[in-house]
Amino acid sequence: MIDNNNRVVNYLRLSVTDRCNLRCMYCMPEEGIDFIPHSEILSYEEMIHLVGLCTQKGIRKVRITGGEPLIRKGFIGFLEMLGGVQGLEDISLTTNGVLLKELAADIINCGISRINVSLDSLKPERFYRITGGDYFEQVCEGLEEAERVGFNPIKINVVAIKGVNDDEILDFARLTLAKPYHVRFIELMPIGNKNIWAADRFISTNEILDRIETIGPLQSIGHNTLDGPAERYSLEGAKGELGFIGALSNHFCDTCNRLRLTADGHLRGCLFSDQETDIKTPLRQGVSDGHLLNLIEHTILNKPKGHGLMQFVPRKCTRPMYTIGG
Ligand code: SAM
Repeated sequence: MIDNNNRVVNYLRLSVTDRCNLRCMYCMPEEGIDFIPHSEILSYEEMIHLVGLCTQKGIRKVRITGGEPLIRKGFIGFLEMLGGVQGLEDISLTTNGVLLKELAADIINCGISRINVSLDSLKPERFYRITGGDYFEQVCEGLEEAERVGFNPIKINVVAIKGVNDDEILDFARLTLAKPYHVRFIELMPIGNKNIWAADRFISTNEILDRIETIGPLQSIGHNTLDGPAERYSLEGAKGELGFIGALSNHFCDTCNRLRLTADGHLRGCLFSDQETDIKTPLRQGVSDGHLLNLIEHTILNKPKGHGLMQFVPRKCTRPMYTIGG
């Protein structure tokens, strides 16, 4: 479907849970979290029904996210159901990788071969400091297993934070020389755990690019349709590639094709805007599919024009990232 700003909206980010087995410093505080009551979280059957309706409004790609999707009970069964939704051309998954070693084979057997793994440090102690979880080795084993069973591509999402992990930018870049990973640097966004956000912790895509160019020239790689907003490059002789997501410095609002469905059944046109449509209440009231389709259409048409974060003045967004789905 085309929204009121002439953008094709064909990509749904689906959050299956707000729970997580990590507490990444920029995302979730260690304490005082108000998790959504289980009764308010959409059942898998409800999600499948809504995704099916979204495909009738032009959604062709789904990325499953959270919270941490792999911790929700029955997740593999859900993937099997999702694979049967007519009209979906691509399903992918974002995970922190903690449970990937044990689930990678099952996931790929459900027909999902594209995976993003969040990993902000290659140093075990620092991984622990950033995530609050002593799972560095487990995540590395998960990545190895993902490679072994044939995921392609395996993208590694790195949130670059000044004074926290920016001294590892070159190590992450060099990782692409040895491994077929797509390492993607994500700018820190002023959303989520407010205690961490500060402008002096922010590193722009350009600064990261400049630093990486000190170890070798970067070749630009063209976009393919499943790429999303990352600017892609590779180092000479690399097995993998590098991607840069400048959500703030080089925002992609003009071409944003995303719709989001939160774990508690709200549709959102923009990660950074509180404008959302409650679709769970009417769904549970038993309204017709026609009514639900109208709600989906309304949300797509009225997708916010831009996130307005360029001056570091966020639009109103009171929901934490883990309840929306990153
Ligand atoms: N648990 C999964 C994971 O770790 O990938 C999926 C959910 S997580 C919220 C999705 C992505 O959002 C991760 O790559 C994470 O690093 C990113 N993210 C969360 N808060 C962020 C922030 N304030 N700035 C930039 N990226 C953020």
